[in-house]
Amino acid sequence: MTLLEKLPPVRGKYIEAAPLKDITWLRVGGPADVLFIPADEADLARFLAETPDEIPVHVLGAGSNTLVRDGGVRGVVIRLGPGFAKTEALEGHRLRAGAGALDKMVAKAAAKAGLAGMEYLVGVPGTIGGALRMNAGCYDQETSDVLVEAVALDRSGRRIVVSPDELAYAYRHCSAPEDWIFTEAVFQGTPDAPAAITERMDAITARRETTQPIREKTSGSTFANPDPPGTPNQRKSWELIDSVGGRGLTVGGAHFSEQHCNFLINDGSASAADLEEVGETVRARVREQYGIDLRWEVRRIGVPAEE
Ligand SMILES: Cc1cc2nc3c(=O)[nH]c(=O)nc-3n(C[C@H](O)[C@H](O)[C@H](O)COP(=O)(O)OP(=O)(O)OC[C@H]3O[C@@H](n4cnc5c(N)ncnc54)[C@H](O)[C@@H]3O)c2cc1C
Repeated sequence: MTLLEKLPPVRGKYIEAAPLKDITWLRVGGPADVLFIPADEADLARFLAETPDEIPVHVLGAGSNTLVRDGGVRGVVIRLGPGFAKTEALEGHRLRAGAGALDKMVAKAAAKAGLAGMEYLVGVPGTIGGALRMNAGCYDQETSDVLVEAVALDRSGRRIVVSPDELAYAYRHCSAPEDWIFTEAVFQGTPDAPAAITERMDAITARRETTQPIREKTSGSTFANPDPPGTPNQRKSWELIDSVGGRGLTVGGAHFSEQHCNFLINDGSASAADLEEVGETVRARVREQYGIDLRWEVRRIGVPAEE
């Protein structure tokens, strides 16, 4: 019996042996056994309820924080499609957004509705699902600051509505069980003129253009900073990487960016193994020199090529 034959009928789409390198920013890695694009939340809930527990299930957003290993991903990878991309202004200066909506589209929807506070999302190239899981943020703002509630489905398809407190957010960390799939969220804004909000968003975009290699095959910050923002004498990953000679360090087609040395870059010929190896080399140097264990912020999924 093939994996596809074990999966329940759905209204969305199944794709067998789906190449994941095409839908992740780093552009590396092998295929998913099956890629599932659910039609909507009810379709996803049914899939989760009826898919046998032993079949691994993994959710992917825009793939801007994910490294797929060269051997690909066993089981089913779920990608939230257009059925999860809606945004809607609510009463009380709030905005509802589907977990498949791109962060920058949500930022633009908030600006159009005259809701300040979500400008930072214009600088994060992921989806709302990824932002909820990673507590994405930049320039002193993060997702938990504006989150009112999130909706998730657990592995059995049960719908759960949670507050940010229940998710115990911290810097780039969310305590939701790993098998929860966020489907939508409500954010709190404060009223402001759309033109003023758009101006702040443009400033964020301009700042990123000059400080980050945003047109490369990358996944943003490779390692989380050892200390959260606001910590006195905060230790920053890029400084540690720089001080152990990580800037520009190369393995095969992978290197740490010269422009922003916490960003890993695929020059077009890298394998996932190259990227992991250059990352682990820097981690080992930092551990040896400072006794600090850098935490991978990039999520690594799948199996190496040999397996
Ligand atoms: C050029 C560049 C710049 C970046 N700058 C920033 C930055 O300034 N700040 C920042 O925080 N990040 C930054 N990132 C990293 C990345 O954009 C964020 O982590 C983003 O939130 C990831 O969203 P995604 O949809 O791409 O997630 P993915 O990479 O697809 O997934 C990341 C994790 O989220 C999980 N996930 C995705 N969707 C869901 C869902 N619906 N429910 C549950 N879990 C889900 C995945 O399983 C995975 O564990 C940058 C990345 C790049 C490439």
